[in-house]
Amino acid sequence: MAGSGHRLIRLRTLVHVIAPRAGKAVPEGFRRLIAIEDVSKRYADGTVAVDRLSLQIPDHSITVLVGPSGCGKTTTLRMINRMIEPSSGTIRVGGEDVRARPVNTLRRSMGYVIQNAGLFQHRTVLDNIATVPRLLGWSRQRARERAAELMERVGLDPAMARRYPYQLSGGQQQRVGVARALAADPPILLMDEPFSAVDPVVRRSLQEELLRIQGELGKAIVFVTHDMDEAITIGDRIAVLRTGGRLAQFAAPDEILSSPADPFVEEFLGSDRGIRGLSFLSTRDLELDRSRVFPVGSDRREMSGRAPEGAPVLVTDADGRPLGWADPGSWDGNVEALEPYGPVFEVGRDSLRVALDRTVLSPTGQAVGVDGSGKVLGVAGQETVAAAIRSARRRRAADAPQEAPAVKAGR
Ligand code: ADP
Repeated sequence: MAGSGHRLIRLRTLVHVIAPRAGKAVPEGFRRLIAIEDVSKRYADGTVAVDRLSLQIPDHSITVLVGPSGCGKTTTLRMINRMIEPSSGTIRVGGEDVRARPVNTLRRSMGYVIQNAGLFQHRTVLDNIATVPRLLGWSRQRARERAAELMERVGLDPAMARRYPYQLSGGQQQRVGVARALAADPPILLMDEPFSAVDPVVRRSLQEELLRIQGELGKAIVFVTHDMDEAITIGDRIAVLRTGGRLAQFAAPDEILSSPADPFVEEFLGSDRGIRGLSFLSTRDLELDRSRVFPVGSDRREMSGRAPEGAPVLVTDADGRPLGWADPGSWDGNVEALEPYGPVFEVGRDSLRVALDRTVLSPTGQAVGVDGSGKVLGVAGQETVAAAIRSARRRRAADAPQEAPAVKAGR
């Protein structure tokens, strides 16, 4: 790894003046921002890392480059900010050939985040984040104020400000790395396996944090990972690359899951792509059964009369929150004797994947759907979820192809 002095010099070349605030500069909707046109990279030893790659990377979205190790993801990413020069082809940003711009001017518009964060070990968290604004000539106070603001944005406790990187966990360091890349508010963020070195739980929270930040800032993010699950979780669009730097498929995650372009993509997705695809279908239109939901204290005969014959009923408290399952034929009204209802799903917010999961975990096979405040809206079994999946697919097939990425319905 390069020494900090060397890195400082490189950082000086990365930035130079403040990039325009993305929020102001970007027109409405979804437009092409980075165009990779027939680009190849052959290294000096003859290795072809990228082979005639063409990709249109839109603004206001997260584009993920995914594929097995050595398929040319990092090379592609680094050609965008000219850390690596293509052997042939053209890369344009906002319609302009990146070679037409001085490298400093180009890079000042692109934040860059790498695995293990690459922080300056001898600087505090606050000064790490303030590095780029300082290099841009901001006063120490203004740069630190900006750094403090970014710490909050990436979910770092202000108490961390005076710590050094070695005093942070891997996940916290990674947050600092993201904050540092955002410091000068660049419209483009390039991220190279940024969360690969942290454990799965922290990784999940970093992914959620990135999605939240992206919801607020609306950058064009190019994100490299070898992990298809990560690509599906965070990507608006996914470019699947195969060894030799060739594009196998470029599409929204749900389309890749439902219609992999070829056996390579299918194999890369793994064996449960059908279930994973349900993450993109909302529970909003799920037909919930209310006939077997009763508040505590309800008449037993009414329960048996209204609920389907022999079916257990869900008992709620007076506010409509679930208490547990009962057999109306034998339950004595004792709340303690109810069978636990298990995990619930939030109607409209959770996906059909979550609803299906809840049916599997439920002791009765019926998943409990609640509203945002935890009140029961109804229950649904696997047949009901299956019907919702079929109708969502029919609706989707009938829809015209969309330019914008599918909205995620939650995991
Ligand atoms: P990925 O990011 O998908 O793992 P890379 O873009 O790092 O892939 O590398 C793509 C291919 O190019 C690999 O075969 C790698 O060994 C090779 N490669 C990367 N950098 C160099 C280099 N400087 N010289 C020669 N070959 C390289």
